[in-house]
Amino acid sequence: MRAMILERQRQPLALAELPDPRPGAGEVLVSVRACGVCRTDLHIADGELTEPKLPLAMGHQIVGTVAGAGEGAERFAEGQRIGVPWLGWTCGECRYCTSGRENLCDRAGFTGYDLDGGYAELAVADERYCFPIPEGYPDERAAPLLCAGLIGYRALRLLGDAERVGFYGFGASAHILCQVAAHQGRRVFAFTRAGDEEGQDFARELGAEWAGSSDEAPPEELDGAIVFAPVGALMTVALRHSAKGARIVSAGIHMSDIPSFPYEQLWGERSLASVANLTRQDGEEFMALASRIPIRTEVALHPLEAANEALDSVRSGRLKGAAVLSMGDPGRGST
Ligand SMILES: [Zn+2]
Ligand SMILES: [Zn+2]
Repeated sequence: MRAMILERQRQPLALAELPDPRPGAGEVLVSVRACGVCRTDLHIADGELTEPKLPLAMGHQIVGTVAGAGEGAERFAEGQRIGVPWLGWTCGECRYCTSGRENLCDRAGFTGYDLDGGYAELAVADERYCFPIPEGYPDERAAPLLCAGLIGYRALRLLGDAERVGFYGFGASAHILCQVAAHQGRRVFAFTRAGDEEGQDFARELGAEWAGSSDEAPPEELDGAIVFAPVGALMTVALRHSAKGARIVSAGIHMSDIPSFPYEQLWGERSLASVANLTRQDGEEFMALASRIPIRTEVALHPLEAANEALDSVRSGRLKGAAVLSMGDPGRGST
């Protein structure tokens, strides 16, 4: 099989021809159709996440079909379309796993970080952590639901019933969550980089009531906010614009330091929080919700061998929606 491999951090990925992986006990072999590119992949490639398996096929938003099964793996039929998310394995025994919080498992294995992922023609995955993909979504449009959508959804739930929600950084995740929030009757205030008028128009198209740049004040106080951009200073910016009781959630796995701020800004039962990973239950719930709304994803397609360019597009932020590697028909460009 062909794969785009991270040999060492802070180096471009290299195209490699590797032996086909074999599914072990309880694992399925997945013929990868599409794989979403996540900001987390950038943090892995750039060395901000320090302990990846190396060499590594990154990619944790895999949509593919079952092409084989290891011993005892009977959950999915051959040819069935499934998704493989970031959470690839948990221990089932630690205090987190046994209290419904497997997203916090001490020994979790993550797809495209501890385990080889979907920047490849084939992948293997523990069948217990995969889920079916709702019909009606082409492969490429389903891929961003698997992390950008799903972990963003977990962050949105942490906001409780906040009505006026701020989204800082309008990329792959926010473009999905904006639709969920609007569907739930929340009022969305979207913040982009200064001057990104295209991004602001895009946010309004997807249901945001207001869109502006992150150095602007929203027209009203926020009852909650999600910071998608990996910029710690935005946590305090959001806090300054928040109403009493607001929670400000960081949805990313890595962020620059959060600057200090006067306690009076936190006073009034405001809080800062992070969201980490996903549980299998999040996955089931969110995929059902996605097709019910239905969420429309905007994707920019790249062939597998252009994974470096796809990562660069996420790095630069000059991207409408989500970047996706497509194994189906390379070179089709954006849709
Ligand atoms: Zn555990
Ligand atoms: Zn991700």
